[in-house]
Amino acid sequence: MPHDTPLIATIVAGLGLAFVFGALANRFRIPPLVGYLVAGVLVGPNTPGFVADASLANELAEIGVILLMFGVGLHFSLKDLLSVRAIAVPGAIVQIGFATLLGVGLAWLLGWSLGAGLVFGLALSVASTVVLLRALQERRLIETERGRIAVGWLIVEDLAMVLALVLLPALAGVLGGQPQVDDHTSLLSLPASYGIWGVVGITLAKVAAFVVVMLVVGRRVIPWILHYVAHTGSRELFRLSVLAIALGVAFGAAKLFGVSLALGAFFAGMIMSESELSHRAAEESLPLRDAFSVLFFVSVGMLFDPLSLISNGLPILATLAIIIIGKSIAAFVIVIAFRHPIATALMISASLAQIGEFSFILAELGVGLKLLPEQGRDLILAGAILSILLNPLMFLVVDWMKPWLEKRAGKTAPVEEARPIGPATEPGQVASVQAAPGKEDGPPPKTALAGHSILIGYGRVGSLVGAALKEAALPFLVIEDADKTLAKLKSDGVETVAGNAANADVFSAANPEGAKRLILAIPNAFEAGQIVLRARAANPAINVIARAHSDAEVEHLKGLGADIVIMGEREIARGIVEVVTGKAAVAAKPVMEIKPQPA
Ligand code: AMP
Repeated sequence: MPHDTPLIATIVAGLGLAFVFGALANRFRIPPLVGYLVAGVLVGPNTPGFVADASLANELAEIGVILLMFGVGLHFSLKDLLSVRAIAVPGAIVQIGFATLLGVGLAWLLGWSLGAGLVFGLALSVASTVVLLRALQERRLIETERGRIAVGWLIVEDLAMVLALVLLPALAGVLGGQPQVDDHTSLLSLPASYGIWGVVGITLAKVAAFVVVMLVVGRRVIPWILHYVAHTGSRELFRLSVLAIALGVAFGAAKLFGVSLALGAFFAGMIMSESELSHRAAEESLPLRDAFSVLFFVSVGMLFDPLSLISNGLPILATLAIIIIGKSIAAFVIVIAFRHPIATALMISASLAQIGEFSFILAELGVGLKLLPEQGRDLILAGAILSILLNPLMFLVVDWMKPWLEKRAGKTAPVEEARPIGPATEPGQVASVQAAPGKEDGPPPKTALAGHSILIGYGRVGSLVGAALKEAALPFLVIEDADKTLAKLKSDGVETVAGNAANADVFSAANPEGAKRLILAIPNAFEAGQIVLRARAANPAINVIARAHSDAEVEHLKGLGADIVIMGEREIARGIVEVVTGKAAVAAKPVMEIKPQPA
């Protein structure tokens, strides 16, 4: 090699090995993030062979956190955030308090100081953004009520940690540590001479100042920049502007206002979501976001020393118990106390039963301030790795516990959100097979329809097709995965199956064996292809009509067994040609007519 390139080596080794182990994990039906963690352990300093640069990996991971939170902000409105404050604020506070108490208890057993216990407990109380968002995304929960509660809860936790990070250096002396002298992030910490309340006040004022600046200045400037760039017509510049705004706001928030990078990025996203260009903006940042969030897991894996599992066995088990049992019980109890359904309480408990990036930052700070013994940091690391590894399992455990808990709660439980459990098709009534947001609760029940059409996707294309089917009085049901669309379908009295149609359980709930026709009105040809295969396997005689956007997609879908594939762009061209040549009044006539198929 001509010269030393640690950054390139770190990115290449991180992404390359993460890919290999992620694919392997997937092959064995384990979540890919387990593979990413293993890749991290392998390139870390605790295993022989190549060692990547840990501090570089950490910074790369931070970019992942920024982009993830930016993406969440894009899908989150201020209204959403405020709508869950009633549960998220007390929930997060009680959970942090309880976890901290348990942490202090364990610290006491290990013979540490009270200050050490506080730092330790706080570090165990805050969940990882990346892990939570990944879990919600995988289960398509982000846009559901419970998903919003979990994200709101996490934001409150983030805010509390911002406060803790600022307060600790000021309080280190009082707690028996050593006040920090050399501080490279000087804008983050304040001199201890202000006193506790002074420091709290100044911190809160900084957060408030950031929020005000974003709402007053950011709200005007950011959409203006996006519009300006969109008008230049350069796709490259547009992508660049989105990225520059997300990273710039996050960095500025951290450096100028002492707010965390994640929180800054969240706000940047939230402001952008108010402009109509937001959807495009979200898509522009997707590929980068995925790549960098993988590096987050790799960098966590790098910190782990597999041998510590043996030398620190019992304390690690206790730490893990606080994270996945103690925290979960606290979250469960408080969500139930606020009269939310058991399913919501379980989902929130599971998604928060892990720790991650914030815990490391806190642990590092605690060790630096001589508050936390080195052993504490090792326990936090091991707890993080193990709880992240076990997190997918937590969701399984919760799924398994749900029916049992619901049965036990029986008559005394608060009334469930209007969500039919079991087959909901009452005679003589058009019912929703399964309403949102209950789609994550096991396989949906099977429809009673037969000889019907299955319409997949109810967006710009599907909704027009659905209207035509209705008008022609043809029996049909819709498979959709967007909550808003589902709610609308339900209120229109259209039968629905909620979820991703590419999922086997969801698809078979639509009774493909008994269906006459399958209409694929979704834009993704890979998903559509998967569904065509399923449909053909279930029912060789079913008539499959699919949507495509390129000749290659047409070939792909036909090859998999679609009978008719309509290429969107060709139809658009046809519409335009008709207008230009005056052959047909396009507006007055539907582009596609649907006739009942002869039996
Ligand atoms: P449009 O591109 O406007 O026709 O919208 C496509 C619609 O299909 C949207 O409402 C999506 O929520 C929905 N959709 C996309 N993929 C799937 C899928 N795999 N399963 C169910 N619905 C989907």
